[in-house]
Amino acid sequence: MVRLKSLENNYSNHSLINTQAIQLISEVAFDANQQVYLIGGYVRDLILERKSDDLDFVTVGSGIDLAKKVGEKLKVKQVSFFKNFGTAMINFQNKEYQFVGARKESYRENSRNPIVENGTLEDDQNRRDFTINALAISLNKNDFGQLIDPFNGINDLAAKLIKTPLNPDITFSDDPLRMLRAIRFASQLNFKIEKLTFESIIKNANRIEIISQERVTEELQKIIKSNSPSYGFKLLEKSGILEIIFPEFTKLKGVEIINGKGHKDNFYHTLTVLDNIVPFSKNNVWLRWSALLHDIAKPPTKRFSKKSGWTFHGHEDKGARMVPQIFKNLKLPLDNKMKYVQKLVQLHLRPIALTKEEITDSAIRRLLFDAGDDLEDLMKLCRADITSKNKDKVKKYLQRFDDVESKLKTLEDQDKIRNWQPPITGEEIMNTFGIKPSKEVGILKHAIKEAILDGLVKNNPKDAYDYILKRGVELGLKIKK
Ligand code: ATP
Ligand code: MG
Repeated sequence: MVRLKSLENNYSNHSLINTQAIQLISEVAFDANQQVYLIGGYVRDLILERKSDDLDFVTVGSGIDLAKKVGEKLKVKQVSFFKNFGTAMINFQNKEYQFVGARKESYRENSRNPIVENGTLEDDQNRRDFTINALAISLNKNDFGQLIDPFNGINDLAAKLIKTPLNPDITFSDDPLRMLRAIRFASQLNFKIEKLTFESIIKNANRIEIISQERVTEELQKIIKSNSPSYGFKLLEKSGILEIIFPEFTKLKGVEIINGKGHKDNFYHTLTVLDNIVPFSKNNVWLRWSALLHDIAKPPTKRFSKKSGWTFHGHEDKGARMVPQIFKNLKLPLDNKMKYVQKLVQLHLRPIALTKEEITDSAIRRLLFDAGDDLEDLMKLCRADITSKNKDKVKKYLQRFDDVESKLKTLEDQDKIRNWQPPITGEEIMNTFGIKPSKEVGILKHAIKEAILDGLVKNNPKDAYDYILKRGVELGLKIKK
């Protein structure tokens, strides 16, 4: 909630800015005869009473010189300089203090890197992306704590509006990343995008192509981490940007009807699943990615037949196969995080299958084995995947998952299948039969795993060994004396 009242017109009494460091920066700037202001996201978050750990200071003059002097006074070991950008950064008590000289920017057609000149505070506020991000608080002695708000950002904060300070066509064409930032802030803060601003995003959507994939993905991640990611994705879709940056996802959209039979709109279904998983994935953006991608292969596997209606057979397999390429295109990590998402996409129908069939212990053991450490996350995904509007149905499905979970638990307590390694290694098999790495070793390894999962052989080394001996001999191998 916006609580402007506590701040009134005088920000100097607010506990967050009334810190020693801020006082010290104010004094250092006074001694150096330089004007200094706290500006941008930190001011916005201060007024919104949101936590924020990076503070931006703009000074009329050299940001680097001011940072050096502040660094000395704060006795910090390291001040980092980015000479090309004229900025400097100090890490102090787990916060980042960034200093920059006020500047004026002008842009060229094909790059988001502007031509930069020294400027006034006003010039610097003009180059900011949104009215709510252009707010500054004076730290100068004569008017310490004074809010400098040339674009009425304070009203937009109260009205929950994202709006560019200048003509949006210029703001977005200068730096198209701002379009994604607009949608990201809307999603994070639960703000609306002002009408003309959003129309301009639609108009300039194609310009997103000049932005590096890393920057695009960084914003996408922030949307996914927000509390209502579906809102951000709907804005992305409506603006036309989603089609450019994540075309596989827009293909989920739409309903086809044949012989009066339709299927659900998988785009909106997926977004509901994504929102459903939010409370269960506060620190796990990859579980959110699994929700986002769980049905990604529904469009390419969609079929209609008179007998079965709409089907999406194999969409979990194909979806899992699509994950690496999607991660690669989006420059997301290709390590175990990708494998985790792939695994959850692959397995997302399995618990449902367990609710439907006559469940055998073998099927449950297999899920324990295949899901391993990620079983809880898989169950979270499956619960989030229930998006029926019919409350009774939802209740019934959730109850079935409770039953599946209790069966999983009973069997796990009994057989310890999760994170299980078969009791006989490939090496032991080779020693037993005096053979080299070969097809037979693979066959026997697979056979013992299957036999244990099927409950035909007990999960201990002796029984496993006896079984291997028997199967080896059947394969024509000789036991080494
Ligand atoms: P957050 O830190 O949550 O991402 P923020 O608003 O602090 O939000 P930063 O990227 O840290 O965003 O940038 C700090 C400030 O710099 C912004 O508030 C804004 O005033 C300005 N800014 C950042 N990126 C741009 C941009 N692409 N165009 C114009 N101004 C920008
Ligand atoms: Mg910031």
